[in-house]
Amino acid sequence: MDQFDPARVAVRTGHFIGGDYVDEGGRRIDVARPSDGVMYASVPVADAAMIDRAVEDAWRAFKTSGWASMAPRERAKILRRFADLVAADVETLAPLESLGSTRPIRDASNWDVPFTAEGIRFYAEFADKLGGDVAATDHDHLGMTIAEPYGVIGAIAPWNFPLVMASWKIAPALAAGNAVVLKPSEMTPFSVLRLAELAVLAGVPKGIFNVVQGDGRTTGDALVRHPKISKVTFTGSTRTGAAIMAACAGSGTKPVTLELGGKSPQIVFADAPHLDDVARRIAGAISGNAGQVCVAGSRLLVERALAEPLAERIQKVFSELKAGHTWSAGTTLAPIISEPQTARIESIVGRTVAAGATLQCGGTREGASYRPTLLTDVTPSSEAVREEIFGPVLTLQTFDTEAEALELAQHPEYGLAAGVHTADLGRALRFVRGLEAGTVWVNRYGRSADFMIPTGGYKRSGIGKDLGRQAYEANLRFKSVLIDLRQ
Ligand code: NAD
Repeated sequence: MDQFDPARVAVRTGHFIGGDYVDEGGRRIDVARPSDGVMYASVPVADAAMIDRAVEDAWRAFKTSGWASMAPRERAKILRRFADLVAADVETLAPLESLGSTRPIRDASNWDVPFTAEGIRFYAEFADKLGGDVAATDHDHLGMTIAEPYGVIGAIAPWNFPLVMASWKIAPALAAGNAVVLKPSEMTPFSVLRLAELAVLAGVPKGIFNVVQGDGRTTGDALVRHPKISKVTFTGSTRTGAAIMAACAGSGTKPVTLELGGKSPQIVFADAPHLDDVARRIAGAISGNAGQVCVAGSRLLVERALAEPLAERIQKVFSELKAGHTWSAGTTLAPIISEPQTARIESIVGRTVAAGATLQCGGTREGASYRPTLLTDVTPSSEAVREEIFGPVLTLQTFDTEAEALELAQHPEYGLAAGVHTADLGRALRFVRGLEAGTVWVNRYGRSADFMIPTGGYKRSGIGKDLGRQAYEANLRFKSVLIDLRQ
């Protein structure tokens, strides 16, 4: 799909609890379209009583619906049907996603929706692959571990890829036999409601996949503290992740998976093959979704000899990006999610320039977008180099030696991802070993469609993994059994 008429998108709002829409009034949050700031709908804010209703309902469904106890291949069949329904629903889901988020419609229909469907299918295939282990014991005993679902998982998602981020939480949780209560971001609350409807249509029992709406302080906090939430999985900022971890510790020491912020380096050596391709990759890694990507490659470290030709090429790629509404044909530069976020980007760039950086390009608004920006003459202590900006702002630092490049690459707090571009395999592998990052890409930047490769951060970029086998295992707990065979 190339474009759509925003006036024709039907938006259902409310919570989705026990297989039905629930909206009982009370405080509401107005929701704006990032493309033009127009308020187009509102959501109710779930208070502690509504959270209690949702979690109790999910708990009841977990205990009584048969979801956890059914033959795993049956569960897999239902989830495959769910994936098929999501893929087939692109005409509804993609405009809904695009209208309320920063995702241009071409991206939403060619990537977000199919990728969400495929992620659900990937975890459906896990449903009967991991039942536990038999332990090596003496012959008088039989020892084993049995994999069991936790019960009700509390999932909290960010706004930058509303469907995809939510699917990384719900798909492994459901495949492992859990019930889920999901809180999307209050800025992008609607597309996951359609996802929950489709789950019920596919045969996921009512109450197994629930959505609650609201802000972090009221709704998110009540969700993670609820005593019947057995595990929390969160994607969002490092600051919120820390608050959630504290809330989990204070409400029953719940396990928690945290996918948090980043400030990822892209390291380019002078021998990197195909400079035009490298420039396109580097530019794409900071301008995709307008840099509103956790793994955005926001710090370019380049061997001195290559700095000028590379910077020129990157600026050319930036200049070709076309700002526009997410629903308009040809938009390739996403809008920024909100006015306060645009103002924040502007102020960080402004302060960094005032402190001595040179603005090579960008630094201006265009409609609801922020033009991709390249800053040079920065140091490790420059604000734009230190802070996660979550916008299309690339800083460029040069290096002369491998050791210097590695030192510049390590961020004092974050360790989410990194890219190394070089023709020298030994050097690439030395960086793979040396970089403190949860993911290292060599001669590419960004995830592939290989769901088996997990994602997650080192240091303050997170705890645990999304995707891969690890995310499935993280939705299971393991019971140890030891049987004395002599009795
Ligand atoms: P955020 O932390 O502001 O909000 C994320 C979610 O947490 C929202 O649903 C929000 O309502 C909720 N929340 C806020 N305070 C809460 C609280 N006290 N208790 C419970 N829930 C609370 O993040 P954001 O602005 O939505 O997303 C951007 C951030 O997410 C960036 O830092 C980005 O790097 C990170 N992110 C990380 C990954 C990853 O895989 N590591 C992926 C996407 C985004």
